[in-house]
Amino acid sequence: MAKRDYYEVLGVSKSASSDEIKKAYRKLAIKYHPDKNPDNPEAEEKFKEAAEAYEVLSNQDKRQRYDQFGHQGVSGNGGYGGGMNMDDIFSQFGDIFGGGGFGSFFGGAGGGGGRRTKKGTNLRVKLKLNLAEVANGVEKKIKVKRHVVAPGVTFKNCSTCQGTGQIKKVVNTMLGQMVSASNCNVCGGSGQIVDKKPADADARGLIVKEEVISINIPGGVAEGMQLSMSGKGNETPGGIAGDLLIVIEEIEDQVLQRDGNNVIYDLYVSFIDAALGASIEVPTIDGKVKIKIEPGTQSGKMLRLKGKGIKDINGYSKGDQLIMVNVWTPTQLSKEEKQSLEDLRFSENFRPDPGKSDKTFFDKMKEFF
Ligand SMILES: [Zn+2]
Repeated sequence: MAKRDYYEVLGVSKSASSDEIKKAYRKLAIKYHPDKNPDNPEAEEKFKEAAEAYEVLSNQDKRQRYDQFGHQGVSGNGGYGGGMNMDDIFSQFGDIFGGGGFGSFFGGAGGGGGRRTKKGTNLRVKLKLNLAEVANGVEKKIKVKRHVVAPGVTFKNCSTCQGTGQIKKVVNTMLGQMVSASNCNVCGGSGQIVDKKPADADARGLIVKEEVISINIPGGVAEGMQLSMSGKGNETPGGIAGDLLIVIEEIEDQVLQRDGNNVIYDLYVSFIDAALGASIEVPTIDGKVKIKIEPGTQSGKMLRLKGKGIKDINGYSKGDQLIMVNVWTPTQLSKEEKQSLEDLRFSENFRPDPGKSDKTFFDKMKEFF
């Protein structure tokens, strides 16, 4: 099923301010909240859809990538991240409703409280990729240092919150009594505290472990894109692990220049090759390829190698390699060379005579893009 546009989901315009986005989401979150719509899968879908849209559009960075690349720009191509789970959604509410306020919205008991699982922090790593890796995708192994629960750690229920992770307070308001719930500050909301732990673990029962994680980078990623692997971040006692965020950095290629999904190559040919024609080797992302220069090729001609560009991150198509032909004028000549050329100076065939078939540079650009 096609994903709906995030702006459409929240019912805001593309130019909506962050305040408008927040307000729109708050309305939908209240309307479709599971506590108000028990056993209503359709409402739950809407609830999740809105949360996901908000997650992206409320983040300057993600919103920009979404505007530029669509859904793929924020979720990657190989099934990273995907939809949000309820825990993610409830953990997001602190930001929307302020403090631990969501419980009190719906009377607390049986509300969001128990579902609000604690989540470990995200890890963020930068990953440098060369042009070939960007173009075709690549499997990479990355070393990360994660906080993981130490082997042998045991936990017991937190005595402050009796293992619920929540401290509930009854507050008298104008509307009558309301229950407000907030995270227990002794166990941090997990309901669990360390009972026994090995000597090398910290107070939370965690140790730092170096792990090698293998990740499939889809072809067509770009500088600044962020891929997320859920559950590969830091662990937290009694909760779920955070995410591993991989930020793409492109290593600039010395020879081939990226332009969207196309690559551009500046080819210099001698005046002789341009006049007589030649077969010339050019570099591509996938190695060298021989191309034919037709006799009488003009400087500025563009040649296209179809499918020799970069994979489209949204699909199966591939960009092209564009070859810009530049005729090289010699800058140093021997006496004999000068004489040979001097002999040709007034030859009729050597006089520039651009006809209608010789398109200008701008016409050619129009044709190619
Ligand atoms: Zn507690």
